[in-house]
Amino acid sequence: MDFRTEVRAWLAGRLADTPAPDPRAWERELGKAGWIGIGWPGADGETYGNRRATLPEQVVWAEEYARSGAPARMGHIGENLLAPTLITYGTEEQKHRHLPPVARGETLWCQGYSEPGAGSDLAGIRTTATPDTTTGGYTVTGQKIWTSLALDADWCFVLARTDPGSTRHHGLSFLLVEMDQPGRIEVRPIRQLTGTSEFNEVFLDGARATEAVGGEGNGWQVAMGLLALERGVSTLAQQVGFAAELEKVVAAAVASGAAEDPVIRARIVRQWAELDTMRRHALRTLGTTGDPGAPSVAKLLWGGWHQRLGELAVEVAGEAGAVGPEPWTTRRPYELHPAQHLFLFSRADTIYGGSDEIQRNIIAERVLGLPREPR
Ligand SMILES: Cc1cc2nc3c(=O)[nH]c(=O)nc-3n(C[C@H](O)[C@H](O)[C@H](O)COP(=O)(O)OP(=O)(O)OC[C@H]3O[C@@H](n4cnc5c(N)ncnc54)[C@H](O)[C@@H]3O)c2cc1C
Repeated sequence: MDFRTEVRAWLAGRLADTPAPDPRAWERELGKAGWIGIGWPGADGETYGNRRATLPEQVVWAEEYARSGAPARMGHIGENLLAPTLITYGTEEQKHRHLPPVARGETLWCQGYSEPGAGSDLAGIRTTATPDTTTGGYTVTGQKIWTSLALDADWCFVLARTDPGSTRHHGLSFLLVEMDQPGRIEVRPIRQLTGTSEFNEVFLDGARATEAVGGEGNGWQVAMGLLALERGVSTLAQQVGFAAELEKVVAAAVASGAAEDPVIRARIVRQWAELDTMRRHALRTLGTTGDPGAPSVAKLLWGGWHQRLGELAVEVAGEAGAVGPEPWTTRRPYELHPAQHLFLFSRADTIYGGSDEIQRNIIAERVLGLPREPR
């Protein structure tokens, strides 16, 4: 059986039983069946993940997963952000300790970068950490914000200042923190426009970090390496999901008659053409490293595209896109029409992982060589 057939058969068989499995149980099932970390390398013949899949196989898995309509992954931060970072910057011991539980779908991670005073300007981080000589770890104090999935996560990678006299991007460390530390870590959910709470505030008050990845004081280099992953490689899997979303909008436009409107038709064609551009960009840059502009271009392309798709979706949905099925004050989280859900959630796409303005700054300064903006 070729790889694509194997993937399709597994997903179809599994989702036929339970189309919407419990997200946490689903992670374990994926892990058990060997579908997490499929491309991770190993050392000396062993593997931290499950399969040592080739790059084309990883693309096939991502495409088929999106095509199958399987649920959004809860373990993506551990699998797609933490794991490649550990593989690049971690010690053998760190890889052996942290990668297998991620591959088994047992350990969920969250990302503790942003703070109330440090978002786009991440170097403004004020969370501090001091070495704990008894454990060999660190004691961390400060506040993180917008931490996606922090309420469910078992671990968090936290960017903190380990050199008290340092400023900006110097003296930071990339620390690993276990979340279950009552009295030392408090997670407060943030209510979103949708009525749900995917992200949170995280308060650290003498929390224990087990270790620094990439060595103490090298947090900026590690954090930036991870952000390039966040903007770049994982976008390829999105293409198929985006195509499925666009197909639904087109079907809705045809069904409602909105597709008769030449302006709507032109917008659909534009979405289609731009999606094709994104796919080509993703394929062209797949597996390349060291191109400072490629991840930023990808993020700029898909963030705005997805927002415009959300806008188109609510317009095409007509009345159903404009009003909710229940009075919105009585039901939380709100029951949203899929078009409304797409519209509201995609507002965040041009912000997280580095806003559009920041991506343009990166392209201007690091690719085009334009003068740095005054600070
Ligand atoms: C859905 C969602 C999930 C998130 N999940 C996480 C997470 O899991 N972990 C985490 O650490 N963070 C997370 N974030 C936070 C995200 O990384 C920040 O919101 C983002 O970096 C922007 O920072 P900020 O919100 O502080 O905005 P600010 O930095 O205050 O920016 C405000 C506005 O000013 C603009 N701006 C800022 N600086 C410049 C400049 N130099 N030139 C031009 N314009 C500028 C920005 O583009 C933006 O429009 C998430 C955010 C969202 C929306």
